[in-house]
Amino acid sequence: MKKQMNCVACPLGCLITVEYEGNEVLSVTGNTCKRGEAYAKTEITNPVRSIHSTVKVIGGIHPVVPCKTSGPIPKGVIFDVMKEINKVTVNAPVKIGQVFIENVCGTGVDIVATNNDTGK
Ligand code: SF4
Repeated sequence: MKKQMNCVACPLGCLITVEYEGNEVLSVTGNTCKRGEAYAKTEITNPVRSIHSTVKVIGGIHPVVPCKTSGPIPKGVIFDVMKEINKVTVNAPVKIGQVFIENVCGTGVDIVATNNDTGK
């Protein structure tokens, strides 16, 4: 099988073509560097994404504070991870890097704050 994808590892966005059979990558072309090859292989064998979202804050300057996954998670668990994020409510103050959920959905990845909220 053949699949085309734009590499997202840098802003250049090279158009990469991957030939594969099942989970085995046969060839990668169109990438300008090794990072593109690694990205393409991961997309075929174990696609992952980082998530950016928000959680509710009680007593904060803003009603929500931004958060993200501390690393990439398998694409297949994104929906479950979003459900867990949506359940979270925190009290101000919030510090950047604060962990809201440890090991979310057993991924080994945490949900962490990406901004401060000192509170009202
Ligand atoms: S293949 Fe390399 S140069 Fe091209 S978008 Fe990916 S990281 Fe950037």
